[in-house]
Amino acid sequence: MNALSERISRLIALGGPIAISDYMALAMHDRALGYYSTRDPLGPTGDFITAPEISQTFGELLALWCIEQWRNQGAPDRVRLIELGPGRGTLMKDFLRAADIVPEFRGAVDITLVESNPVLQKLQKENIAGTRAGIAWRRELEPQLFDRPVFVLANEFFDALPVRQFVRARNGWHERMVGLDAAGSLAFVNAPFAVDHRVPASLKDSALGAVYEVSDAAQSLMRMIASGIANLGGAALVIDYGYDVPSLSSTLSAVRAHARADPLESPGEADLSAHVDFGALSAVARSEGAAVFGPTSQGAFLHGLGIGVRAEALGREKDDETRARIRSEVNRLIAPDQMGELFKALSVLPKSAVRPSGF
Ligand code: SAH
Repeated sequence: MNALSERISRLIALGGPIAISDYMALAMHDRALGYYSTRDPLGPTGDFITAPEISQTFGELLALWCIEQWRNQGAPDRVRLIELGPGRGTLMKDFLRAADIVPEFRGAVDITLVESNPVLQKLQKENIAGTRAGIAWRRELEPQLFDRPVFVLANEFFDALPVRQFVRARNGWHERMVGLDAAGSLAFVNAPFAVDHRVPASLKDSALGAVYEVSDAAQSLMRMIASGIANLGGAALVIDYGYDVPSLSSTLSAVRAHARADPLESPGEADLSAHVDFGALSAVARSEGAAVFGPTSQGAFLHGLGIGVRAEALGREKDDETRARIRSEVNRLIAPDQMGELFKALSVLPKSAVRPSGF
């Protein structure tokens, strides 16, 4: 049992089982021992790898996408560019290099990186800030940032937001929580009382054992973003693994050193995540008056933005080995049996927007 696990067990012994979302928040964000407070989870020695770390084309194409939306909205001269959970800063670095070819856009944006992890904030500063003035950091997304058109990027961010789970039992839906087993170890337990009102009416009659997941954190962030975009313009691009229709099973998972782990085993030492409910995010965005396009598969999205052409340009006048490497990196992003199908892209735009490229 690690130190954080002991702390959480004591909390439960004193106050009773806690929601899975509270467990996730502690495991990931505890100031001293949380996973995202203490380390760089990415990179070769880390726990997982993401699209921008695989290929520079990812950030470059996202820049072209944003510039297209900015132009479609009349190229406003004061806008914000916000990235949620920028990791090592690689996406933003590639984005800015590509955006440099449109100086009017570069001149119009104030950049904010929203990052709760101090280790990663430092890495981001080293990676991008040296060469660029005008980048601000925040620990969380604040409503005051939505004072003008805002372009929001979120790659593998929403999956890191805590979820709650509700399980269909014989007498209704019960919250699945984190409690203690007879040996005093962390274990999943069902709350004693049914809370059917937490589950959408359409799912009420699901089979026994069905699990409904909901991320209140994800929905309230999307509410803030979509209402800003609906009112003042801008665009959001959310790319992540997820589903449009709930799978009715638990998608909570823990990953450590590129391998699956037990989510309750060593809190703070493994990355916890859940699949993103794109259907729920779309519904929230529409209810704020924004237009939603997607979700579409990452493969189709990147293909639509011309990833093939970009890869070819990168490989021009390079040796065979480099060309093969570029091709295999791009393949990893778009192939259906790699990241192409599991990962999806969702865009949020003002009500009057035309269909954006890639959707
Ligand atoms: N977008 C990056 C990193 C993905 S990992 C990439 O694609 O490589 C998730 C990122 O979100 C990390 O930077 C992590 O520190 C950050 N993060 C997770 N939860 C957060 C929260 N609640 N607030 C702000 N940042 C968060």
